[in-house]
Amino acid sequence: SVALFWHRRDLRIHDNAGLFKALSADTPVQPVFIFDSSILDKLEDKDDARVSFIYREIQRLKSEYEQLGASLLVKYGDPLKVYEELLQEFDVEAVFTNRDYEPYARERDKSIHQFLKKNDVDFIGAKDHVIFEKSEVVKDDGDPYLVYTPYSKKWKAALQSDSFRAYDTLDLAENLHQTKPFKLLELSDMDFVPSTIEIPARQFPEKIIDGYDETRDIPSIQGTSRLSVHLRFGTISIRALAKFAQEHNEKYLNELIWRDFYQMILFHHPDSPDTAIKSKYDNIEWEHNEEHYDAWCEGKTGYPLVDAGMRELNETGFMHNRVRMVVASFLTKHLLLDWRLGERYFARKLLDFELASNVGGWQWASGSGCDAAPYFRIFNPESQLEKYDKDLKYVKRWVPEYGTSSYPEPIVVHKEARERALDRYKSGLN
Ligand code: FAD
Repeated sequence: SVALFWHRRDLRIHDNAGLFKALSADTPVQPVFIFDSSILDKLEDKDDARVSFIYREIQRLKSEYEQLGASLLVKYGDPLKVYEELLQEFDVEAVFTNRDYEPYARERDKSIHQFLKKNDVDFIGAKDHVIFEKSEVVKDDGDPYLVYTPYSKKWKAALQSDSFRAYDTLDLAENLHQTKPFKLLELSDMDFVPSTIEIPARQFPEKIIDGYDETRDIPSIQGTSRLSVHLRFGTISIRALAKFAQEHNEKYLNELIWRDFYQMILFHHPDSPDTAIKSKYDNIEWEHNEEHYDAWCEGKTGYPLVDAGMRELNETGFMHNRVRMVVASFLTKHLLLDWRLGERYFARKLLDFELASNVGGWQWASGSGCDAAPYFRIFNPESQLEKYDKDLKYVKRWVPEYGTSSYPEPIVVHKEARERALDRYKSGLN
């Protein structure tokens, strides 16, 4: 008999908490990955960069297992059906996995759990994706935090000597199920084609983290770590990164705490992808203006910092955090378009798309979420440009026609748009 270890957003062997737990038990461990057809079917682009990224990482993971005399079994389909097959193929004693806090994943895991239980198979979870999960860091009365600063203080106070423990999975590698390599399906078997988007390297950029305070807000340089996609899919360990951050740069550690914060919020507010966390914000009457929405998506608003950001996103699947805040504010305030439209567009385009941080970021920008900026604080895209890209390096890279007659006129006038947003938010909220 075997135990299965189900990889999801933890595409690595070393320092993997759930895999370590599985390997520490007595039964040989067979690792599995499932390309979930119910997720893939919803993707609009056949060259989706996330699918290519996962596929590439699965190839790497599989060959790493093969160097250890084992192999990764890769399946494609509806997870419940895949588990029906797996129980036919193997004499399965238990299934181990790392917990995932997204609403869809929790529903899926519930049904898998019920199915396995009926078949007398244990389903055992571990914490690996975050430092603190669920209600590990909450207010004294047990309520979840809605504001970041007190959350981050409590988070730091809650650290234990083993919070950043590195799980020595390789020491237990002999407990892997020894087998000949399995065959790997092709991307085209799932109806996808490779993406041409470049993927950031998987390494700790030590210098960047050390100089992060000075460089993090300048979009024209690589002043941030670009590790978001790797954290999303667990190709690096959050514990190892947080430990490094703690030793090197507190500002950087604070960003990793934002990530835990939003995971915690999504866990406690599973409907927040669709509804405002501060519910009265759902009374705001949004504009319905397709022309404005299209101009925003295409980076043709006539506001150079907004346009540069959207074009960076469309071309590379990445956008600098400072510019994410500016374009999100522009959509929800200057254009008065529903934040959910922006959230969905980002979800389609971002290589590092991650539901918790994306919904958190969008609700923050629109004022409806946790720790939100008050609605009357509206980013001025011109002064943001002056402050963060004064020499227009970033703008010129992404909007080469800026300054020529082919660059569009502003689609709204800042002062008027600001007044309109203030009026509309005020009347929605009262
Ligand atoms: P660094 O500055 O090097 O930060 C290191 C890591 O800390 C990041 O990789 C990320 O995991 C975490 N982090 C940093 N800032 C934040 C933040 N504000 N919230 C949560 N985690 C953070 N991040 C995503 O990973 N996926 C998303 O879908 C996403 N959508 C966003 C939408 C909006 C509207 C906004 C304002 C922000 C969004 N962010 C999202 C957060 C942030 O912009 C990115 O994490 C960051 O730009 C990624 O670049 P980096 O890895 O170089 O970040």
